[in-house]
Amino acid sequence: MKLADYYRRGSLAVSFEVFPPKLDTPLESIFDTIRLLKELNPCFISVTYGAGGSQKGRTVEIASRIHNEFHCEAMAHLTCVGHSREDMCQILDELEAAGVQKVLALRGDPPQGQQDFDFSKGEFQYASELVQFIRERKDFSIAAAAYPEGHRACPSIDQDWRHLKAKVDGGVDLLITQLFFDNRIFYHFLDHARAMGIQCPIVPGIMPVFNARQIKRILSLCGASMPADLLLMTDKYGDQPEDMRKAGVEYAIRQIGDLIRHGVDGIHLEPMNKPDLAREILRGVGYLG
Ligand SMILES: Cc1cc2nc3c(=O)[nH]c(=O)nc-3n(C[C@H](O)[C@H](O)[C@H](O)COP(=O)(O)OP(=O)(O)OC[C@H]3O[C@@H](n4cnc5c(N)ncnc54)[C@H](O)[C@@H]3O)c2cc1C
Repeated sequence: MKLADYYRRGSLAVSFEVFPPKLDTPLESIFDTIRLLKELNPCFISVTYGAGGSQKGRTVEIASRIHNEFHCEAMAHLTCVGHSREDMCQILDELEAAGVQKVLALRGDPPQGQQDFDFSKGEFQYASELVQFIRERKDFSIAAAAYPEGHRACPSIDQDWRHLKAKVDGGVDLLITQLFFDNRIFYHFLDHARAMGIQCPIVPGIMPVFNARQIKRILSLCGASMPADLLLMTDKYGDQPEDMRKAGVEYAIRQIGDLIRHGVDGIHLEPMNKPDLAREILRGVGYLG
């Protein structure tokens, strides 16, 4: 099944994102998470790619086992920064041999501590080049990243969205957005994307908040904004983990409920490898009985 097909079935398509355990943690620890997430009936589970390719083997292996042992559709994130074309061919061949034919094609961030990193010196400069590279070689279904607030490195939001349109035109089947917490930002972006002629499904990436310090760190890295209600919530419950978690689950339920009422194509939930969080939220929005 191609990625876009999940969003044409008339019922809400829910997918999950997991990240590989740190390199000093046994790989097996992720598979309990995957078993529990699979019980929640996702259309696919995606596996992130460590920044700078640091966990590339783990991404391929986890995606392969999701597909072959758990019999669940898997999508591998793939970043091209710092990779040669030969590296990419090898990874794509490994994925294909494992039966994983869905990838989220990304550029990736500059290596840690190198904010002036020059992407033009590498063999791939933008995700659109990776999309084209894969299209020319494999019959994969390709997703790409979208930024409802504009990508933080692009001087203008409109310009970023024009780059997005070019990326999609190169052969993208599905867009998954960066996390956001104010749905109005997503609806505004969606209107623009459709007006620009982007027709593929555009699925909001939703990250539940359960730890105030962690979400502030993530936002400081990805550049998404924190609306006032979330700021007040993290200030109020930041030192009370139980209350913070409860408030974060309620926030996610409200946010996703509103997205569903607006007829979104699907939800890509990033529950930070915590299946219980995903279960509570999906129950709260009526997706699970
Ligand atoms: C859903 C999602 C999942 C992610 N998963 C991971 C992951 O697993 N691992 C990881 O390391 N990172 C991940 N990221 C982060 C991502 O790698 C970074 O945001 C990265 O900085 C940009 O990647 P991209 O694929 O969006 O790049 P691109 O689409 O290449 O865009 C990058 C920048 O280049 C600009 N640009 C694009 N084309 C042109 C052009 N022709 N001329 C000039 N400028 C241009 C864009 O406007 C943008 O500012 C994820 C992001 C999202 C939203």
